[in-house]
Amino acid sequence: MMNPELQALIELHEAENVLRAAEALLARCPVDRAAIQARLDQERARLDAARAATEVSNKARRKLEAEIQDLETKRTKYKSQQGEVKTNKEYQALLHEIENVEREIRGREDKALEEMEAGEAHAADVKREEAHFRATEAQYKAEFADVDAREKAARQQVEVARAGRETALVGVPEAPLAQYQRIAKLRGGVAMAEAKDGCCQACRVKMRPQQMLDLKKNEQVTQCPSCQRMLYFVPEPPTVDHGP
Ligand SMILES: [Zn+2]
Repeated sequence: MMNPELQALIELHEAENVLRAAEALLARCPVDRAAIQARLDQERARLDAARAATEVSNKARRKLEAEIQDLETKRTKYKSQQGEVKTNKEYQALLHEIENVEREIRGREDKALEEMEAGEAHAADVKREEAHFRATEAQYKAEFADVDAREKAARQQVEVARAGRETALVGVPEAPLAQYQRIAKLRGGVAMAEAKDGCCQACRVKMRPQQMLDLKKNEQVTQCPSCQRMLYFVPEPPTVDHGP
C-alpha cells in the first residue's frame, strides 16, 4: 500500500509542478511581447530613417536653390553694370565676374538636380516603408492580442495552481514537509523525482535492483543516493486487452 506521507508529498510535488509550469507560461509573456515590440521598433526605425534621408536631401536642395537665387541676383547686378563701365579693361573684368557667377550657378544646379533625384528615391522608400508598415500593423496588433490572451489565461492558471498547492500543503505532515522544503532549497525548487527505468529521473543515477524493487512498493519515503531527492514510483497503467 502506498505510504500516506509519500502520497501527500507526491501530491504536493505535482501541484508545485503545475504551478511552475503556469508561472513559466506567465513569465514568457513579457518576453514574447518585448520580441514583438523589438521587431516593430525595427520597422519603425527603417521608416524613420527613410523619412530622415528624404529631409536631408530636401534641405540640401533648398540650400542650393537659395544660393542659386543669390548668385542670380549677383549676375543681374553685374549685367546691369555692363552699360556703365568706362574702359575695356573694366568691361573684361566684369565679363570675367559674370562667367564665374554663371559657372557657380551651373555647378549648384547640377547638385540641386542630384539632390532632387536622391530625394525622390528616398520619398519612394518612405512610401514603400509606410505601405509595409500599414500592411503589418494588423499582424502586430494580432500578435500583441495573442500575448495578452495567453497572459490572461496564464494568470488564471497560476491562481488555480497556487490554490492547488495550498490544498496539497495541508495534507503533508510537518516533518516530511520540512525535509521536502530543505531538499527543494538545495535542488532548484524540486524536491522529488520519479524512479523510472532503473534510475532517478532527475539526476539519472542508476538504482540498485533491490532499491528499485523497494521503490516500486512506494511503502516509504526514500531519497536518491546521489541528488537526495525523494523518490517515488509511478506504476504502469494497466494494459487494456482489446481481445482477438
Ligand atoms: Zn537523483
